[in-house]
Amino acid sequence: MPLSPKEFNAFCGGLPATTFVEQWGGAQVWKVGGKVFAVAWFEKETSVAFVPTLYPDYHPDQPGGVNVGRSILAKSFDIRALGKDMNRLRPPLETITFIGMMFNSSNADLKHFFNATKSLTSFLYVARRLAVHVKELAFYGRGTNVTSGNALAARLAKSAFDLGIPIHTDTPARELVRDADGRVAGAVVEMAGRRVTIHARRGVVLAAGGFPHDTARTAKAYAHVKSGGEHVSPTPAGNTGDGIALAESVGGDAPLQFIGTSAWMPVSKAPLPGGRTGVFPHLLDRYKPGIIGVLKNGRRFCNESESYHDVGAAMIEACRGQAETAMWLVCDHATIGKYGLGYVKPSPMPRASFIARGYLMKGETLADLASACGIDPAGLEETVRTYNVGAERGEDRQFGRGTTAFNRYLADPEVKPNPCVAPIGKGPYYAVKVFMGDLGTFDGLRTTPLGEVLSATGEIIPGLFAAGNDRASIMGGNYPGAGITLGPILTFGWVTGRHLAGV
Ligand SMILES: Cc1cc2nc3c(=O)[nH]c(=O)nc-3n(C[C@H](O)[C@H](O)[C@H](O)COP(=O)(O)OP(=O)(O)OC[C@H]3O[C@@H](n4cnc5c(N)ncnc54)[C@H](O)[C@@H]3O)c2cc1C
Repeated sequence: MPLSPKEFNAFCGGLPATTFVEQWGGAQVWKVGGKVFAVAWFEKETSVAFVPTLYPDYHPDQPGGVNVGRSILAKSFDIRALGKDMNRLRPPLETITFIGMMFNSSNADLKHFFNATKSLTSFLYVARRLAVHVKELAFYGRGTNVTSGNALAARLAKSAFDLGIPIHTDTPARELVRDADGRVAGAVVEMAGRRVTIHARRGVVLAAGGFPHDTARTAKAYAHVKSGGEHVSPTPAGNTGDGIALAESVGGDAPLQFIGTSAWMPVSKAPLPGGRTGVFPHLLDRYKPGIIGVLKNGRRFCNESESYHDVGAAMIEACRGQAETAMWLVCDHATIGKYGLGYVKPSPMPRASFIARGYLMKGETLADLASACGIDPAGLEETVRTYNVGAERGEDRQFGRGTTAFNRYLADPEVKPNPCVAPIGKGPYYAVKVFMGDLGTFDGLRTTPLGEVLSATGEIIPGLFAAGNDRASIMGGNYPGAGITLGPILTFGWVTGRHLAGV
């Protein structure tokens, strides 16, 4: 739900008067102190550019929710514009690329890949995309046309380089430096094996990506880890909570205050070449008709086509107190051929290696599949029997799957009457085990709206600021729509930057 102008003004606290200006490409544009707010500013002043998306809000039926058009996406970017720095851009998450090729986060792009063997237009589209990508691989060793978060990071980097601002990668911050008055005045970093002190005239901004890989903190924060379950995060492995720990070393406060500590993401452990394992986020399959999610007892527990955060929260709740927090996505032979399952691609891509490595489980009957997975066979058979009664008519009588625009957005529009629901038909049957993961942490450092880090007693720590996931999310542990981490991160990073620049 968008903030009303009054709520926004209240939220911005110390900022000058704020007025709502206009709807821009699906996003709201605000004026702060007479100047147009973040999105338009980035487009005007930097290499950052956005395109609108058709994404519905994740709860479009809630008061104020919209069925289409609030979220925006970074425009794709050719990273050759970064010159020699191109290779310093972290590659996209391997498991959501196809031989390193990124997809546009739109239904149209993906639809062509799903239909490549069924439509000449889609086949030609895919062939063209692959040809361009293979050429990029041959010349540059990686895909150069990047999308989504990779495009945003590349565009921000280009903007910094154009202004002569260096970005020191492989240079971890280790300590904060304080001046005689106790003000944070710099940081000690490790640069090429040496400890170097960087002095800050205006302030130090912590932006080390929250704490998804800080095992001590997540063991305290996550109920499913406390009861002995696994947590598998696809976020950068270096996001080990350093920013928060640095702030705490000078009195900063990062309470665990949200029920949704993190942006939950159901994930599986995908087998990669060379015996490696990657983390695969289940962003697409849960929406497709004929794929259901069941627990160890063989029962469904939620509307699988809700957002990753909501399905994740439901999974944690359903497994509360159990040693393991997991579900299995289950489908029949025709469905896996049509949509794939998890990291397994649709036909004609081969499946044998996924079965051999234990990622994809297969059974001639539902009972066989259940036994192979360690699921209760009677429970699974009963679930499928009950589910199919409604599914024959396109109804999910238990959880109402397909009843919102968001449920339907990533489903299969060609399946009627409900693009999210189809019966589970003839075997063999397949399953992939899904664990709990995250896209980043929501809990973080307490700050003022300007980003100044606060102590436990609410005092500002002079000279110290936080941005990104190092700072507690304004969403309070909720995930109302696409971009709910990056949108506020970009906006409040901009607010902090302008404050420090004195504009
Ligand atoms: C697969 C996936 C898909 C996602 N999709 C979306 C989406 O569609 N929309 C959306 O809004 N969000 C999405 N997110 C979440 C979003 O990417 C993150 O919330 C966001 O990138 C966090 O930004 P950040 O600046 O806090 O951290 P990051 O972008 O992770 O950057 C933190 C950086 O700090 C560095 N670092 C760590 N420790 C130190 C140290 N001691 N010194 C110096 N540097 C350090 C890290 O190496 C890293 O480069 C997605 C996340 C994932 C994993």
